[in-house]
Amino acid sequence: MATTKITKEQWAESDGYLARLREENANFASAYGRPRYAHTETYGCQQNVNDTERIRGMLKRAGFEFTDDAEKADLVIYNTCAVRENAEQRVFGRLGILKHIKEQRPGMLVAVCGCMVQQEHITEKIKKVHDHVDLIFGTHALWRMPELLYRAIHENGVVVDITDSDGAIAEDVPILRDKDEKAWVSVMYGCNNFCTYCIVPYVRGRERSREPEDIMAEIRCLVKSGTTEISLLGQNVNSYGKDLGLDIDFADLLRMVNDIEGVRRIRFMTSHPKDLSDKLIYTIRDCDKVCKQLHLPLQSGSNKILKQMNRHYTREQYLEKIEKIKREIPGITLTTDIIVGFPTETTEDFYETLDILKAVRYDSIFSFIYSRRVGTPAAKLDFVLKDEEIHRNFDEMLEVQNQICKEKNLEYEGRVETVLVDGVSKTDKNLMTGRTDGGKIVNFRGTPDMQGKYIDILITHAKQWSLEGEIAK
Ligand code: SF4
Repeated sequence: MATTKITKEQWAESDGYLARLREENANFASAYGRPRYAHTETYGCQQNVNDTERIRGMLKRAGFEFTDDAEKADLVIYNTCAVRENAEQRVFGRLGILKHIKEQRPGMLVAVCGCMVQQEHITEKIKKVHDHVDLIFGTHALWRMPELLYRAIHENGVVVDITDSDGAIAEDVPILRDKDEKAWVSVMYGCNNFCTYCIVPYVRGRERSREPEDIMAEIRCLVKSGTTEISLLGQNVNSYGKDLGLDIDFADLLRMVNDIEGVRRIRFMTSHPKDLSDKLIYTIRDCDKVCKQLHLPLQSGSNKILKQMNRHYTREQYLEKIEKIKREIPGITLTTDIIVGFPTETTEDFYETLDILKAVRYDSIFSFIYSRRVGTPAAKLDFVLKDEEIHRNFDEMLEVQNQICKEKNLEYEGRVETVLVDGVSKTDKNLMTGRTDGGKIVNFRGTPDMQGKYIDILITHAKQWSLEGEIAK
């Protein structure tokens, strides 16, 4: 399906609903002596975080203020994830709690959006079990939220929009970001890969790339407002541009961002190993602003399991790419994703994965026990290992990786690293947090005015998950 843009006229119609809501919210504030409060909660990946930033951007334009306390909110929005079952269970749990809160505050509005509700069986369950939910909208309806919210306020009964408008990109939706110094910028949406365990292509649709000039315009605008670190985001950024017909790929895009004055650091995720080209490796190596950090999901080290996962690479091909990356970019920080307990996985398969962890020595891994997702091909496969065996393997893997993490972090002791300061402790205003070029977390004593600045830190102590340091003389 060809990529299309939501037209200016279509967005203007949506924006018109934001204007109506703004007027109503102003009337509300005059009548009650307080603004209307919205509370948003995000589950799942960075793409969802980015979507919530758009939701908050629209709500701000509509005159809502924000609260961290769901009990005080006039509008609660859960932006949900479908990748693992426990994220879905948490949302159902939260909805159950909210039912009692809403009984005390009948004017409260409850909305559920995102990947979870893009699955019809989930939306049906919410309608049946949680009749206090007023609005349900899927991933494709995000830009239509203003109208849907307006209708939910004015109509009786639940408003639902989970229609699949695959292939559309909405450029004009306002964004409200939490941090000033760094920002995630979506470069593409959806995925064409259909890994057999993954629900993403079903709930987020096929790959569609944003046009480069739209991405550049967003980044230039961010730089003007003080952002210096840009993270480019997509389910599989290495496919960027294939649908545009513009003779541009992700490596070209990285170079374009690298040329923007005022950008100091560039990160990106996620890369599919099968699409990671030599050109991209050289681009990471040669572009001074592109951080020397790569997240390259392995998922399994067994060729049999990789085939059943539909990953389109073998362990040998994956290791060849890692070897090349390490050769071209010495000292690069490497991270990965691993699934333990995929159906049909044996203990021998698991040990093949463990062998790769030991060989590559990742700086950190994101590991998960396989979660069966209704509608995916893997959901029909049988398990070989028992639950307790899967958990035992999982624990063994963590033990091995924890040791590697600690050893890798020890290599930093005595080095001076430049960190972008992006956090301050809640309990001690002089305890600052920053990240190195490779993405390592560094804690050090400083002052709150360092937030958003690049500071040289002498690393004095390595912990398993982070580094400690002091301001370099
Ligand atoms: S590449 Fe595979 S795991 Fe990643 S989003 Fe696409 S289908 Fe899911």
